[in-house]
Amino acid sequence: MKKALKRIFLVLLAILVAIQAPFIYRRYKVGKLAEKIATLNAERTERTDDRFNEYKGVIHAHTNLGGHSTGGFDELIAAANANDLDFVLMTEHYSDAFDTSSLTLNGVYGKTLFVGGNEIDTADSDRFLMIPGSPDAAGLRKVPTTGVLEKLHAENRLAIVAYPEKFKSWDSNFDGIEVFSLNTNAKKMNPFTAIFDGIWSYPAYPELMLASYFKRPDENLRKFDEIATDNLRKIDTPARKPMISLFAGTDAHSNIGFHLFGDDTGNRILNFKIDNYATIFRLARQHVLIDASRPFSREALIEALKNGRSFIGIDALANTEGFKFEASSCEDTNAPMGSDIELCNDMGFSTAYFSVESPLESRIIVYRGGSVFREAPNSRSLEFSSKEQPGVYRVEVYLDQLGPPFDKMPWIISNPIYVR
Ligand SMILES: [Zn+2]
Repeated sequence: MKKALKRIFLVLLAILVAIQAPFIYRRYKVGKLAEKIATLNAERTERTDDRFNEYKGVIHAHTNLGGHSTGGFDELIAAANANDLDFVLMTEHYSDAFDTSSLTLNGVYGKTLFVGGNEIDTADSDRFLMIPGSPDAAGLRKVPTTGVLEKLHAENRLAIVAYPEKFKSWDSNFDGIEVFSLNTNAKKMNPFTAIFDGIWSYPAYPELMLASYFKRPDENLRKFDEIATDNLRKIDTPARKPMISLFAGTDAHSNIGFHLFGDDTGNRILNFKIDNYATIFRLARQHVLIDASRPFSREALIEALKNGRSFIGIDALANTEGFKFEASSCEDTNAPMGSDIELCNDMGFSTAYFSVESPLESRIIVYRGGSVFREAPNSRSLEFSSKEQPGVYRVEVYLDQLGPPFDKMPWIISNPIYVR
């Protein structure tokens, strides 16, 4: 009997060791990826722009103020400062008892500007990030989506569609869509592989382990292009809607993870909190362009976000600072992302000229209304024109040299330029 037990134990031990092999190999591959990224970051073209200053930050962060988060202000401020973030847009869950947006971080702490916002529900079960937040946040869940958006626009607040996969009121007047969400991505991770990657890869390369699970948000981008194109079509009609922008959200709660031993007072052994702020703030950021003549402020930031003067950078893969996408026609020269410009007559054709600059050699894809319009492999820049082709133009940039999955998951996603 004892012998049989011993044999079972040895077989189980052998199986446990054997299933580690692929994860040890993955740990080796993540290490190689980190080396490639270090080399890439050294090859970046530093660009300066006289017209705009670039600021980077994150959108959609929670603390324990709004429930189901374990994060506190100390951890949040330390993580934002350590990552040199210029801004963090807080989106606290609402409470019936108190105004979470005014009690969360507002103002400059260290080198980071915090703006207190809310994540809100409407009576139609739609969810928005409302920035800045409001004492009425809780009550909005009794108001239909159209009423909520009317109120938010009248109060000059930003309304960004959160969880677009569950959103229903696509006909309404929102300002933008959170097309990429770290939390949604993390929830799609296979828990089995995540546990073993957590043991082998996470301790040394937390953000790269998480980034290796990233997937291009195909459906959200398709929806974005569809709505943006529709809004452009209605631009000169009474049914006019705002030109929409796209955003990446961290949806950081600092609450996803597990610990194998320990207690809830913080004494933990083998503790994997995969969405701690410091890691999450290195992954996906919103880079915002603000007129160089304007000082950086809460108002300037919200205005630039509202106007689409920003792009998504998966900075864990390489620093995206300095990316540019601009267009020119008769009236406008070098109009930045978020602009709407008119085609103009050039030698008999209605034409617009575009330029893209990438900080690294990369594959640059230009989409028009969701279809590939131009593609340039191994490029640091791309210039092209469009004749007689109004539409919504936006850019995705890929670092194919990092290998899968990054040949299918963009490194940069620009906001569009609207051409009519
Ligand atoms: Zn959230």
